Amino acid sequence: MNRNTLLYLDYNATTPCPSDVVEAMLPFFGTEYANPASAHLMGRKAAKAVEKVREEISNLVGCRAGDLFFTAGATESNNLVLQGLAVWEPERKRIVTTSIEHKSILEPCRRLREKGMDVVEVPVTSDCLVDLSTLEGYLDNRTVLVSVQFANNETGTIQPIEEIVKICHARNVLVHIDAAQALGKVPLSLEGLDVDFASLSAHKCYGPKGIGALYVRSGRARNAVVPLLLGGGQELSIRPGTMNVPGIVGFGAACRLAFSDLGSEMTRIAHLRNEFEKQLESRFSGVRFIGSGATRLPGTTSVLIPGVPADALIARMPSICVGTGSACSSGALSPSHVLLACGVSRDDAG
Ligand code: PMP
Repeated sequence: MNRNTLLYLDYNATTPCPSDVVEAMLPFFGTEYANPASAHLMGRKAAKAVEKVREEISNLVGCRAGDLFFTAGATESNNLVLQGLAVWEPERKRIVTTSIEHKSILEPCRRLREKGMDVVEVPVTSDCLVDLSTLEGYLDNRTVLVSVQFANNETGTIQPIEEIVKICHARNVLVHIDAAQALGKVPLSLEGLDVDFASLSAHKCYGPKGIGALYVRSGRARNAVVPLLLGGGQELSIRPGTMNVPGIVGFGAACRLAFSDLGSEMTRIAHLRNEFEKQLESRFSGVRFIGSGATRLPGTTSVLIPGVPADALIARMPSICVGTGSACSSGALSPSHVLLACGVSRDDAG
């Protein structure tokens, strides 16, 4: 490898935006700049472009176009579900989540706890899998929602969503999945999974940053979401604000690209990841891959080399970009809450 070449291996933090995606967006900064809420010809053209993307993405993720609402990304979608739900059915005060969620779940949960909600976190196994019997035990007749990741951003572990949904729906509990890491990396069928809400993000799947979506199933789930923002009524008032048309168009182009050869890409990338792990195993005794006993995202590995601190390792390989935990919490000195939840010691998680 050329000494000046950077090797970017941090796709769970964000992905590049390929030229096809950028090119699809460009006209919407230029000639097609109209506000899609405007009733005139240019506005209607912009609205048509937005609705085409809504239709395309909903086809790819297996839901009705009318159940998909554009937001600024998974952080906003997660907050909208958690904080929006808290004011609905005020007598049902319990929310169940897990100890490995992204901060955009855990932080609103902390706020809800301060406001008097009963928020409980289900522990995970050493393979970063949600403990289903504990989850079931946490559901009571005051439980309104279970919020769980589809795939973890650090270990790539994919949760048994269908089983979780069955357990929850048998008790009339709504299910939200944070699918930020799943989109474009593995197949996703929201209606097939029977979830009530799902958060999506474009920039984890070759799209631009600052755009994403929230799936809200019509019926009970739709009635449950109280908007966080009040404004001009866009997105059926679930998420008002002038629409980010270039972002939405880029989101659509990115999904088209990611889904076009998803099956073969999954095989190719999983092979590379497995080969990488094999090579590390042959070189470092005691190396561990957290979550490797479970189904994982094809391109994710969480490597633990005993006695080698992540920061020291990264300092020795400046041209290789890898994560030492969630990019959103990097800079924090504390070890990854995900690894700690998987039973990794404080020393090894740092
Ligand atoms: N959830 C998960 C699992 C994530 O990995 C991320 C991004 N790190 C988010 C939510 C937040 O997504 P966004 O950047 O679109 O706000």
